[in-house]
Amino acid sequence: MKIALAGNPNSGKTTLFNAITGKIEKVGNWAGVTIAKKEASLKKSLNRYSQEITVVDLPGAYSMSPYTSEESITREFVANANPDVIVNIVDATNLGRSLFFTTQLIELGIPVVIALNKSDLAKKRKLRIDQELLAGELNCPVVAISAQNGLGLEGLVDRVIQAVGAKQLSAFSQGEISGIGEAKIRDLDEKRYRYVDEIVAKVELRDIKGDTTNIQDRLDRILANKWLGIPIFALIIWLVFSISQTYVGTYLADILVGWIDRFYSVVAGLMGANVSPILATLLLDGIIGGLGAVVGFLPLIMVLFFLLALLEDSGYMARVAMIMDRFFKWVGLSGKSIIPMIVGTGCAIPGIMATRTIQDDRQRRTTAMLTPFMPCGAKLPVIALFAGVFFEDASWVSASMYFLGITIIILSALIIRKITGDEKVNDYFIMELPEYRIPSVKRAAQSMLNQAKAFIVKASTIILLCNAAIQVMSTFTWQLEVVSQGNEASSILASVAAPFALILIPLGFGVWQLAAAAITGFIAKENVVGTLAVVFSITNFINVDELALVGGAGNIAGVMGLTSASALAYLAFNLFTPPCFAAIGAMNAELGSKKWLFGAIAFQLAMGYVVAFVIYQAGTLLQTGSTGQGFLWGLVAVGAIVATIAYLMFKRPNEPIRSKFQQG
Ligand code: GDP
Repeated sequence: MKIALAGNPNSGKTTLFNAITGKIEKVGNWAGVTIAKKEASLKKSLNRYSQEITVVDLPGAYSMSPYTSEESITREFVANANPDVIVNIVDATNLGRSLFFTTQLIELGIPVVIALNKSDLAKKRKLRIDQELLAGELNCPVVAISAQNGLGLEGLVDRVIQAVGAKQLSAFSQGEISGIGEAKIRDLDEKRYRYVDEIVAKVELRDIKGDTTNIQDRLDRILANKWLGIPIFALIIWLVFSISQTYVGTYLADILVGWIDRFYSVVAGLMGANVSPILATLLLDGIIGGLGAVVGFLPLIMVLFFLLALLEDSGYMARVAMIMDRFFKWVGLSGKSIIPMIVGTGCAIPGIMATRTIQDDRQRRTTAMLTPFMPCGAKLPVIALFAGVFFEDASWVSASMYFLGITIIILSALIIRKITGDEKVNDYFIMELPEYRIPSVKRAAQSMLNQAKAFIVKASTIILLCNAAIQVMSTFTWQLEVVSQGNEASSILASVAAPFALILIPLGFGVWQLAAAAITGFIAKENVVGTLAVVFSITNFINVDELALVGGAGNIAGVMGLTSASALAYLAFNLFTPPCFAAIGAMNAELGSKKWLFGAIAFQLAMGYVVAFVIYQAGTLLQTGSTGQGFLWGLVAVGAIVATIAYLMFKRPNEPIRSKFQQG
């Protein structure tokens, strides 16, 4: 037997799915978190029947019209998979919005049971709903539940079992939809809205606003304020980065790195003179050292994700989306674009996938290609390394990279809008603002552990392999002889990376070691750290002071040969050039066009190059009074990039097509 969960975004579908199946799916406070359908069996403790019951969580939908991919997945599923019963999750605190979809579901003819969710919240807000009346009006059973607190779930399952095989009658019928024009559909939608409004007016008994609502409103007046909103957001992000990267995170990282160091010494001691020096180097420096350098940043990442999850859970992130909405509309993006970008701070891949909820094609593709400009979790070790080594863990480095990412996105959106020549699309972004609430430490810890797990899995697979390969490539020459000290430039790695290094001279980091690290970064961004560790034989980026003492011949900054300007430029280059291959794969899938894909990659390369050039040259000019290395060459390259972009922006290929279209 198959039960399908369907409901609007944020109605609590994922929470209910988790509660009745015992699975852990990410619960988000905004639309777009549930992207594809998920399936699992009903939990044993809830299944008192002698049959297997499968639960399918469908993507959120506002209505059944095939506007966005999410909605069409829902429609298709319901049409094809024929669930025995549809459980329609309705947010009791937002009845009006939810019931539109409900009436459409009911018309499919499959038995529908309404799960009136968030009844705990409704009660707290002194909002009463006449359930019997509602059930009568809609001709289908209504069960009040609280998915979050696990209340009413047995009752819901019982009601679902009873509903199997029942004939579903619709009290409001739109009739046959296929083959009628858009105007007609709009007309029917109007009617449906009126019908729903009437029901809501009958069944909802609102008391006067309680105290909680007042507190909520007061909080919103400050946090979501037109003027204060952005500075407050900046302050919060800065705080989050300070805690994760300057204080708590670094403190924990120190401890972890201490353990890794000890492990390194123990292994080195065990191997002693019995193991060939090359094997020892591969194992010690390539694997333990390179991996240790990456894993050392784990605590910083965990603390950051813990804090971000707390912010999300508190309801604040939804306000950030609302604040940013203005800017996004202004540059021709959808207000919905902010969601993929916030998701992208974890990992660009789900972020890119979340663009599916954007209805307009051009806005969706633009968002998919700009989402990787948000610094993701994998880029964090790179940021932390540079903030630590060159800027004494200053949190302004991370915070400014975050805001630089947002600035680049906004600027790029303007450019792309001009290049693609499309007019602004008016779409409204309806977003439910969840209540502010005390965030749950448990949920935040869960999110943190998920991130940590993913990070460790990645480190022990792809990053381990890359480090080993880099170690081998830097140990041997093409003739497979061991590279002697002082002759590092004859290694395989050096000869592969050197040509790229030439192009990077005007950016301030034209040496093969740094070029090699940037290249491995395309496989996974954490590799930048691992490769730097291997090529410079630095196994510890966290205890910088200690290391400077051990190294004797200067500190890490000196070893890497970077000034603060070129270090920042290198960091920006790694953050704002194309993302890792996996994210490019996701872009490929979502952009659905080779032209867009290659355009996006070229654009990202150009953007990273120009930003790094400006940072290095301007920084060097400020610091030393003259421009940096390769200024003229770089200027020519950047000039060519800017000219190409300007040409693409101001040529007008779309005009004839559009005017023809408008006439026809
Ligand atoms: P989805 O978008 O429909 O999958 O919704 P989610 O399951 O992600 O839930 C959206 C938000 O509603 C989350 O912040 C949940 O914690 C919250 N939520 C879900 N069910 C309940 C409930 O029964 N009571 C309350 N107060 N909040 C809930």
